[in-house]
Amino acid sequence: MTSAPTTALSAIDLRSDTITTPDEEMRAAMASAEVGDNVIDSDPTIVALERRAADLLGMESALWTPSGVMANLIALSLHLQRGDRFLAPRDAHVLINELGSAAWLAGGMPHALEHDAGPGRPTPATVRAAVGPADGPYYALRTTLLSLENTHNAAGGTITPPDEHAQLVAAARASGLGVHLDGARLWNAAAELDLPPAALTVGVDSVSACLSKGLGAPVGSVVAGTEEFVERARRMRQMLGGGVRQGGVLAAAGLLALDRIAELRNDHANARTLAAGLRERGWDVAEPQTNIVLAAVPDVAWTLENLQALGIRALPMAGKVRFVLHREVTADDVDEALRRIEEDGR
Ligand SMILES: *Cc1c(COP(=O)(O)O)cnc(C)c1O
Repeated sequence: MTSAPTTALSAIDLRSDTITTPDEEMRAAMASAEVGDNVIDSDPTIVALERRAADLLGMESALWTPSGVMANLIALSLHLQRGDRFLAPRDAHVLINELGSAAWLAGGMPHALEHDAGPGRPTPATVRAAVGPADGPYYALRTTLLSLENTHNAAGGTITPPDEHAQLVAAARASGLGVHLDGARLWNAAAELDLPPAALTVGVDSVSACLSKGLGAPVGSVVAGTEEFVERARRMRQMLGGGVRQGGVLAAAGLLALDRIAELRNDHANARTLAAGLRERGWDVAEPQTNIVLAAVPDVAWTLENLQALGIRALPMAGKVRFVLHREVTADDVDEALRRIEEDGR
């Protein structure tokens, strides 16, 4: 940090794909959205978004929510009764990034599953073993839900492919569990595999997905399931204060965002370039599967500070440095980031 006049460096912001802002086209769509009161009766643009999202996700129905945390909370609240145990892959967003709402508000007792099938993915045997036999009043934990995550954020945006997903769902079903899928970045998995998102939701009871990450909407997620599930979800959303009135201005952004799923592949290509470049410079980086690059470093805080001095912003995640590629970072930006790191020489 001796030489570089850091103020002269333009920031390359790789903290998250949530930092993406609505572009002109999106702002125009928002400005001209047809709206209504979505609490009194309905807002036509929210209704259109919910229909589109349900179809893409292969579910009967979907509900718009202001955030992904609320979408997951609604789903877990509907699946769990107080004291029920639920299973989720270790470091799942519902376990580490939602401030304990799965326990505090949804009443669930979390149980983390090891990633023994690969990063972000437990095996079906691990699911079965975690449920265990029901034997006696004190030991018979009421385990009722498997909450999956695809892509798995903290594991580095890792994909659970459709065949493994099907086996996990089958194991959960055989053990009498319901299945929720946190698909905040399911679009990334679908884009990378060149599959419809619905191919990755087969057999689940509910799925949540974000519109405000790589797809670039400023606000919004969806939670989808059966008609009956979504009716209950709508009541829960209202209880949580997530019933918005002329939300069509936000849903219009979400509708446009859903046209951009294939564009996520650019972010994945940029992630691979960044990972390869970092590796060439001696960093310990796993090959990214989507738009997240995780780097194992001896001292995360020190590295983040150094990167910051180079005008490169990143965040800590699961004991590593996390870089997230998104639509506002170009291939040139990635080259520039690598150039700055190279020059810095640390
Ligand atoms: C971002 C994220 C969410 C929810 O995020 P919001 O910021 O509330 O929209 C949920 N699950 C995963 C895996 C995420 O990455």
